[in-house]
Amino acid sequence: MARDRANINTNIYPPWDGVENLDVYRWTRDRELKRRKALESKMLTHKRPDGTPLYKLTSGSNLSRTDPLTSSRRSEVIERDKSCVWCGAGAPFEVDHIMRYVDGGSNDADNLQTLCEPCHRSKGGR
Ligand SMILES: [Zn+2]
Repeated sequence: MARDRANINTNIYPPWDGVENLDVYRWTRDRELKRRKALESKMLTHKRPDGTPLYKLTSGSNLSRTDPLTSSRRSEVIERDKSCVWCGAGAPFEVDHIMRYVDGGSNDADNLQTLCEPCHRSKGGR
């Protein structure tokens, strides 16, 4: 279906034509509206000093880090710290970026620390 360029950044979507399968129409419309909404996310404007973006959209229009923490790095940090570095609690753990990822913090081990979920939540942001 050809779409008007004017529709790209709005919530305007062609009405159901009465011919296309209604479930297919709704699924396609909802996916497209979700994609447009996601494209407006401020997260997509965050960039590293070299200009590379910190977040991207997945094919399902979810935001995803362009440089996600690997599970091996995560395990390495938990192994090193052994408990929550703030309160000493045991597992389950979350691995925290000391300088937040969104602020350009790296996935290097020296920028990562092990926190329990309540401590991580109290820090705010991810
Ligand atoms: Zn804790």
